[in-house]
Amino acid sequence: MTSKKKRAPVVAVDGPAGAGKSTVARKMAERLGLLYLDTGAMYRGLAWKALHCGADLRDEPNLEDLLQRTTIDLYRQSDGTNEVLVDGKSVTNMLRGPEVNASVSLVAGVRGVREEMVKRQRAMAEHGGVVMDGRDIGTFVLPNADLKFYLTASLEARALRRHKDLCQLGYDVNLETLSQEIEHRDRLDSSRAFAPLAQAPDAIVIDTTNVEVDRVVDDMIAWYQEKTHD
Ligand code: C5P
Repeated sequence: MTSKKKRAPVVAVDGPAGAGKSTVARKMAERLGLLYLDTGAMYRGLAWKALHCGADLRDEPNLEDLLQRTTIDLYRQSDGTNEVLVDGKSVTNMLRGPEVNASVSLVAGVRGVREEMVKRQRAMAEHGGVVMDGRDIGTFVLPNADLKFYLTASLEARALRRHKDLCQLGYDVNLETLSQEIEHRDRLDSSRAFAPLAQAPDAIVIDTTNVEVDRVVDDMIAWYQEKTHD
């Protein structure tokens, strides 16, 4: 009798901007020996390239075409975060600034862009062993993921987190402006026609507003162990 080899587990982590997805997904992956994949970085990479080459962000066919001519690779860095290579060039440190923040949801709202990104993301998760974070992972990219989380937090907490991150990166941003920008981006992400930000019906919802990162990760790992226990 031949026994079929079991695919390594796949974990989906979704939620709005600043809910803590990337931090907890990265730490969870590290503790479980899985690969962390940041799909937001892929959309940011394309937005960066579009801005860099002066593309018209409202010209959807042009953005689709641009992605077809663009390679976006994610590599694991020693701290577990993803290094992002666009056409072979590392752009990791250029993806978190106000310009990319303001354009990324426009780029991500283009159907043909999403279809291509989703194809690439599914290929990355094909062999399992990944924790993938984004907006549509549990609902659309990996609907058969072994475990799905949907992270939330109050707008105030999310804005404060992003503010701290940006200050650390050396950007001088106003908290109120940032809060409005996050709200606007959430609205665009949740209302787009194709694969919007949404909670999968089978996702475990975690409100991270007043919870320490390591507590959230402990909870997620407990769920993981329960789900993947044979
Ligand atoms: O997660 P992050 O804030 O870096 O994502 C940046 C943007 O990329 C999101 O606001 C959203 O517009 C887009 N995105 C998406 N689908 C994903 C991941 C990110 O549309 N799976």
